[in-house]
Amino acid sequence: MKTLLTLHGLVVRAADYGENDRMLTLLTPERGRISVCTKGTKSLKNPNSVACQPLCYSEFTVSSGNGPFVLSEASLIEQFYGLRLSLEASAAAFYAAEAAGELCPENSGSRETVSLVLNTLYRLSTVGREGEEVAREVGRVKAAFELRLAALSGFSPYLSSCEECGNAEGSFSFEVTEGQFLCEDCLAKRERPSHERWYSLTPTVLDALRYVLACPAKRLFSFTLPEEDGKLFCRICENYLAFRLERTLPSLDFYRKIVTAGK
Ligand SMILES: [Zn+2]
Repeated sequence: MKTLLTLHGLVVRAADYGENDRMLTLLTPERGRISVCTKGTKSLKNPNSVACQPLCYSEFTVSSGNGPFVLSEASLIEQFYGLRLSLEASAAAFYAAEAAGELCPENSGSRETVSLVLNTLYRLSTVGREGEEVAREVGRVKAAFELRLAALSGFSPYLSSCEECGNAEGSFSFEVTEGQFLCEDCLAKRERPSHERWYSLTPTVLDALRYVLACPAKRLFSFTLPEEDGKLFCRICENYLAFRLERTLPSLDFYRKIVTAGK
């Protein structure tokens, strides 16, 4: 027997199949990541087509039976129009959606993760047009998203005190493949395998990392960083998430190309 369900979802992927149909991957607060078959949505004449585009947040009525969900109706809630103004911002938004789609569990409630992605897309849609400052701001927002997503997915690094001696004062380094956190003395004594990637943290970068892990969701982007610290913060967060995902996502490669081309 088929039942109708109403869900809210961000379209993270729309894969074509058949002549006019698409299979959507949605991130929903109610059921985590789900796949939905849609009929005829490749055609822009289809009344559901707009709400089914990638990076649209929409309300979906779907029927569920034994097989996959099948779309019956979709209505657009938010399309983050401002993303169209900046190539960096839209590339970062596609990457954020793809990364969250990778880590979001299937068929289980994921309110915090969905809300994190929506807040990130909203912030990215308000950064403005091209320019050096816009690119830096996109990088900062993307980095805060990356670390927070890792933490929400159960990979929160321990950054309170040196994990070997318990020292909470002084200089620290952070290792992104295993998420290790050591004081200078302990790091100097340690034999370092070649796969390890250590970053020496400035106090400002350490504060920013701790802030992103602990702040209320609504205040996630309410911090500032000087330019050099910002670069280090971005490298750490990007690599930390990439190692949790165990691969570099195609959308991250694309974002990097856009950033390099803009320099
Ligand atoms: Zn130590």
